[in-house]
Amino acid sequence: MARQKSGEMVTFTNVDKVFFPKPGFTKGQMIQYYLAAAPFILPHLRDRPVTLIRFPDGITGESFYEKNAPRFAPPWLKTFAVGRRHKPGKINYILINDASALAWCANIAGIEIHPFLHCVPKVDTPTHIVFDLDPGDGADILTCVQVAFLVKDITDDLGLQIFPKVSGSKGLQLYVPLNTPTTYAATASFAKAVAELLEQKHGNLVVSHMEKSRRRNRVLIDWSQNNPSKTTASVYSMRAKREEPFISLPVTWPELKKAKHAKDLSFSPDEAIQRLKKKGDLFAPVLSLKQKLPQAFAAQSAPPAPPLKAYAAKRDFTRTAEPQPKLGRGRANQSTGRFVIQKHAATRLHYDFRLEMEGTLKSWAVPKGLSPDPGVKRAAFEVEDHPINYLKFEGTIPKGQYGGGTVMVWDIGTYELLGGDHAKGDLKLMLHGSKITGEWHLFRIKTDESKPMWLIVKSGQAAKPISVRRDDQSALTKRTMAQIAAGKGSKKVWRSH
Ligand code: MN
Repeated sequence: MARQKSGEMVTFTNVDKVFFPKPGFTKGQMIQYYLAAAPFILPHLRDRPVTLIRFPDGITGESFYEKNAPRFAPPWLKTFAVGRRHKPGKINYILINDASALAWCANIAGIEIHPFLHCVPKVDTPTHIVFDLDPGDGADILTCVQVAFLVKDITDDLGLQIFPKVSGSKGLQLYVPLNTPTTYAATASFAKAVAELLEQKHGNLVVSHMEKSRRRNRVLIDWSQNNPSKTTASVYSMRAKREEPFISLPVTWPELKKAKHAKDLSFSPDEAIQRLKKKGDLFAPVLSLKQKLPQAFAAQSAPPAPPLKAYAAKRDFTRTAEPQPKLGRGRANQSTGRFVIQKHAATRLHYDFRLEMEGTLKSWAVPKGLSPDPGVKRAAFEVEDHPINYLKFEGTIPKGQYGGGTVMVWDIGTYELLGGDHAKGDLKLMLHGSKITGEWHLFRIKTDESKPMWLIVKSGQAAKPISVRRDDQSALTKRTMAQIAAGKGSKKVWRSH
């Protein structure tokens, strides 16, 4: 099936495939929704890099985040290249600037469209603030409505207009248009201050932090979405979070006040199109209204990274060759960085998995290492942050010192954060190492102990298994554990600090 769109020809494939089994909603219907919504959604996507969440076999099949325009993208599809940190090459973000691009993204099963809060080329300037209201267990969208009005009280007092939309999942999102010079540091501190203030005043209703256990019956005001590496579901995006397709749709404050049931705030694709025809784009002011943050926030700069106290407290640097604590530069939940897996023959042999993030190495001890097989869960115990220069630490920690034993750089490379958030305990990762490559999902299951427990599981396709020989070979120096323990051959490649 092919259809002539404005400009380029897009051929639609597998249009009869059922994407939402419960209502029997097909891929063709999904594409039709986006074509009908195009005049309304396109202004909100223009020049904003997007991440697509693709569901090639519908919502019950596998899904993945598509940040980089795939190789089979047509030459006419506009992209914007952003350099990767610590790695040659770039991410070519898709720009959905016309109906053809939108149709093409729908046809590759990009059910959900998540744009950044900035437009290219000004990738450091958010055009609006978002408050993502996410209900915990026992709370629902009506609880979010209560919290939305509390946020509005504050923005009203500051003379700022704020626009609500339903997320199409479980919550609400509130947008404060700026469209004036600002920074993510300023918008994030403003949103955080509002969230913390409301948590103080309405602790029975609001939380400002991500800990799942504290969220029961409450609404998380997720201020951390105001981040240069984060995307938020677009207004008018279809969502694949529930059994039926729902649209992330703007609503008015009076409508929120009147809502009696959660279903009053759920909109099917057909309902969304009818509303659009009747009411037009209620989110149009988000694109045009110029507003400024209060002066105190406008001057904010990025918060400092946390010190490596826990790391330093455990070590005697006159005895161990491990690096001294030193903070690198970094920002919260950057979208790319380096990673290392160190094989560590301590009291028990284990693997240490570390991600460069927020100026330090977030670290987990993974007793059995990462599994190459999809679905196999491995326990990962979060341990103290390590300094960035621990990335290339290989050698022997003296007996009697913390972690005494041999350390090998088992694999090292770069990662992309495909989705999720460290503070939320959910990281969808694409690893590019010399031994292992592919997607893994690392998520926290227990927070209330000194070593928070996470699981790491392979997602996407199986990874290549590692031979016994390569398992015992440093990715940095090619040495075996025995050679490292004997201090052999270290001078050529590896330098101590
Ligand atoms: Mn270790």
